[in-house]
Amino acid sequence: MHGGPMGRFGGDVDTLRAKNADAPKIPNLGKRIAELFKPHKGPLGLTIGLILISASLSIIPPLLIQEAFNQGLFPTHGSPDIGLLTTIVWIMIGIYVVNGLLGIAQTYLTSRVGNKVMGALRVKLFDHLQSMELAFFTKTKTGVIQSRLQNDVGGVASVLSNTVSTVVGNSVTVLAAIVAMLILSWQLTIVAMILLPLMVLLQRKVGRLRGKIAAKTQESLSEMSAITQEALGVSGILLAKSFGRAQEEVNRYANENQNQINLQVRQTMSGQGFFTMVQIFLSSIPAVIYLVAGYLITNNALLTAGTVVAFTTAQSRLMFPMMGLMQIALDLQTSSALFARIFEYLDLNPAIKDPERPKKIAKKDLGKIRFDNVTFAYPESGDEAEPTLKGISFEIEPNQYAAFVGPSGSGKTTMVYLIPRFYDTTEGTISFGGVDVKDLTHADLTANIGIVNQETYLFYDTIRANIAYAKPKAKQSEIEKAAKAANIHETIMSFPKGYDTLVGERGYRLSGGEKQRIAIARVLLKNPPVVILDEATSAMDTMSERIVQETLDSAITGRTTIAIAHRLSTVVQADVIFVVRKGRIVEQGSHKQLMAKQGLYYKMVSEQTKVKK
Ligand code: ADP
Repeated sequence: MHGGPMGRFGGDVDTLRAKNADAPKIPNLGKRIAELFKPHKGPLGLTIGLILISASLSIIPPLLIQEAFNQGLFPTHGSPDIGLLTTIVWIMIGIYVVNGLLGIAQTYLTSRVGNKVMGALRVKLFDHLQSMELAFFTKTKTGVIQSRLQNDVGGVASVLSNTVSTVVGNSVTVLAAIVAMLILSWQLTIVAMILLPLMVLLQRKVGRLRGKIAAKTQESLSEMSAITQEALGVSGILLAKSFGRAQEEVNRYANENQNQINLQVRQTMSGQGFFTMVQIFLSSIPAVIYLVAGYLITNNALLTAGTVVAFTTAQSRLMFPMMGLMQIALDLQTSSALFARIFEYLDLNPAIKDPERPKKIAKKDLGKIRFDNVTFAYPESGDEAEPTLKGISFEIEPNQYAAFVGPSGSGKTTMVYLIPRFYDTTEGTISFGGVDVKDLTHADLTANIGIVNQETYLFYDTIRANIAYAKPKAKQSEIEKAAKAANIHETIMSFPKGYDTLVGERGYRLSGGEKQRIAIARVLLKNPPVVILDEATSAMDTMSERIVQETLDSAITGRTTIAIAHRLSTVVQADVIFVVRKGRIVEQGSHKQLMAKQGLYYKMVSEQTKVKK
């Protein structure tokens, strides 16, 4: 059988990169991120409109302060003008109330857009992964795939929902403040802005550093989720417990965890120096401005006390939005590493795709299967490795029962997996119903083929749901009929909850034989014209020969059956038996013919009967 969920080969995209964990290079990354927002033009336009309104409103308060000082508090003639000052108070309150309300609306709009974009991205990635070929999953750790969906998409979530509003909001506030400052005094504005280019430059440097650390952090997160997935699954726990290796598993996790902690601290700390510098700079500007104003007034420039106070008010209002913008620029640079990882997966090309012009199977040929000189090597085994299948040719007629027997590892499973195109042949063609499988759609192939694997996968749900997976709308009576034919109905009824018994990873533990019969019931419910039984009765060893035979009979009657069998008593009745050895068909014929030949089949049969005696 093939590797379990952990895959039997390392060397996936992720482990390869772990040694050199920079973010993948994705061209046009910025453009592609922007495109994610395209479907939300309406709400985004509205947000920008609201932001522009509140920004224009926020130019007013500093100018009002100038008024308050120059005309209200210290008018050229007489005492303070209380009337004017009262009006200014009301206007100020009015502006801030309106701005506050606009802010709430903006937050609502942007958080909706951000979350929608992220949700869509997650589903797109999930959908894309579904279309990947089996080989992708056998060579990539499950935890690593999960991590891309959860940690990477989750990691960009806050950026997606905050970026637009923060960028637009802050840049508008900054612009408004600068406009107000320019209106008040262009000379002081230059002083206030003098170090800005330097800050932008430094910011970019810090951003790049953070991006690199982020890529490493995500890599380490995905490694941790792979460890969790492997070690804390039922099989992993069982393995660790039976070999007393729990401590080693803990250590493995703790090591990666330490790595994660270091990276997180580095991530937080990188740029702190920079931010502190920016803060010191922005906070000390007002004093510098008073100094420069002093010089300007000495040199006869027209600067009133009101102007200077209003100017420093406007300037101090710059501080937070400026910092906010720099933070967002940093976040964007950091999260671009995450985006790159997401796009890298989205850009993976499924190796097996539906044909552009699919053909249809003629009804009369349904159930006909033909291999023409098929050679197959697992892509991940490398070029030098011996192909797993070599020059396989055979033909199975509709409604025939064909059995494949042979030593374990000879390539039987591999061969039948080529029929539903889990893998593509390296050389040669396979036709299904008279049509090359490469000319058929995946939907057409799977609709006509039912597979019972050696290892049955039951998901965490009721027995009913597990059987009905093949036909979600099936009635209870249909499900029961299938279960009866698979000889599992009575066993199910003996459970206290019957068909409502929960099975799967956290549910009731069924024996291997029971699971296999549920899997057979599943296929019987689907009732496809072709079934593939991969050692489908292997775990029923302890059951009586009669029950096994009955179950098998229901599975094969009225359809083409391809059975891989290790229990040779079940293949006696086969129309044709193929004996596979080291990737080749070495004998073929009926039980009678092969026995008469006294070759490999004969030897296998004699050995099995000897054991039984
Ligand atoms: P059988 O079903 O006859 O026991 P298989 O088809 O499972 O044999 O395996 C045939 C050979 O292919 C074995 O040598 C096995 O190691 C190899 N093999 C099986 N699955 C994979 C895989 N996903 N990648 C690479 N090699 C594989």
